[in-house]
Amino acid sequence: MSLKSADKKFVWHPYTQMGDWKKWNNRVIVKGKGFYLVDTEGRKYLDGIASMWCNVWGHGQNKVGEAMVEQIRNLQHSTLFGLANGPSAQLAERLAGLAKGMDRVFYTDNGSTAIEAAMKIALQYWRNKGRDAKKEFISMERGYHGDTIGAMSVGFIESFFGVYKTLLTKVHRVPSPLLYGTRFKHEGELAERCLEKTERLLKERGEKCAALVMESGAQIAGGVVIYPAGYQRRIAKICRDHDVLLVLDEIATGFGRLGNMIEYVAQRSQPDIVCFGKALTGGYFPLAVTMTTDCIFNAFLGKYSDHKQLYHGHTFTGHPVGCAAALANIKLYQERNLIQQINANSKYIASRLREFAKSPIVADIRHKGLLAGIQLARNGKQIVKLKNNERIDYFIVQESLKMGVHQRTLGNIMMVIPPLAIGKRDLEKLLDAQVQILRKVEQLS
Ligand SMILES: *Cc1c(COP(=O)(O)O)cnc(C)c1O
Repeated sequence: MSLKSADKKFVWHPYTQMGDWKKWNNRVIVKGKGFYLVDTEGRKYLDGIASMWCNVWGHGQNKVGEAMVEQIRNLQHSTLFGLANGPSAQLAERLAGLAKGMDRVFYTDNGSTAIEAAMKIALQYWRNKGRDAKKEFISMERGYHGDTIGAMSVGFIESFFGVYKTLLTKVHRVPSPLLYGTRFKHEGELAERCLEKTERLLKERGEKCAALVMESGAQIAGGVVIYPAGYQRRIAKICRDHDVLLVLDEIATGFGRLGNMIEYVAQRSQPDIVCFGKALTGGYFPLAVTMTTDCIFNAFLGKYSDHKQLYHGHTFTGHPVGCAAALANIKLYQERNLIQQINANSKYIASRLREFAKSPIVADIRHKGLLAGIQLARNGKQIVKLKNNERIDYFIVQESLKMGVHQRTLGNIMMVIPPLAIGKRDLEKLLDAQVQILRKVEQLS
């Protein structure tokens, strides 16, 4: 059986109407080379979405891959249940050094379960402190925290998760500070209003709430919302004032996406619990962490029979190969001055976004670091279907692939979210392709 037919028949793809799959897609990626993906036919595609927002160094041979191979030769997996393993111990120490104020590292194998662990830790923290009433959660509108049940509860996006509602736990929502589409003229004014509402909710419900969960720096999947300056810091203060834990989700924004290694440090907003994933291993291995302060951790100490211990653990928790990848990845950030390069490329993106802003169908642009969202609308109305009867998101993906670029949109928001170490020339190619696609959508809308 050839690779191509195998893929068409047996794989169920995520977030995909499989009935359309055959019509749209005949590409099977078999190799990665630099910032390009190569399919069975030898066609090359620029990895314009960093393989779902996690790729750092591109693909193929590099030091992260080498560290993984070496680790595989020595020890493939050894559990953290009852034993420690070398790479997970080393990585934890490294992370505690990077993530200021955080002392302990709990390992999971993807972002969603890092959030599940954070929620369980928050809930049990209060129980262990004898404050059983603090059981509820607060999250931000437009937040996204993953696809497992707890993560869907706090990151509820109606169009994605409406059908699963009966599985979810009840969560209070505070507003997301997105200026576009509101009656406010200035971001500051909107931010104040959102903070007032947040404060009011915590005042009313804080006694019953374990934690507020939010993305750190920016919300991405919910529509590329970049927080106004100082916003996250104010939220952190409100949480502290009302005795509600702050859980920050840095799964997509940590390790450089917005131009900072650790986003909450840049935002001066100390969390109680923080989650990292995606770029942690350069995108080479499914690994995520939930980090906490000693203050949280110490509440789990006691006699075994007190049941204060955390009842959570996955088969692959602290996987040595993933931890070796993360260690090599972090080392490369420093050796290659990656954060500096990201900030230089961010300026380049800003200069190019001016071309987009002139388009009659660009309604709003939100950009920070190596993340941009370009909101498309025609006469104030969202563009869903094009004149050729194709959905705008499908059209953009397919047209881009024809041009040798893989990009995805969030509905009618075009996204710039390349691998973090992308070079200037490839970034230019990505943006050129996006301008061309924009012109086509102008014609068809
Ligand atoms: C991707 C993502 C998650 C979920 O991570 P998975 O590894 O896909 O489970 C959680 N939060 C944010 C902000 C994300 O972008």
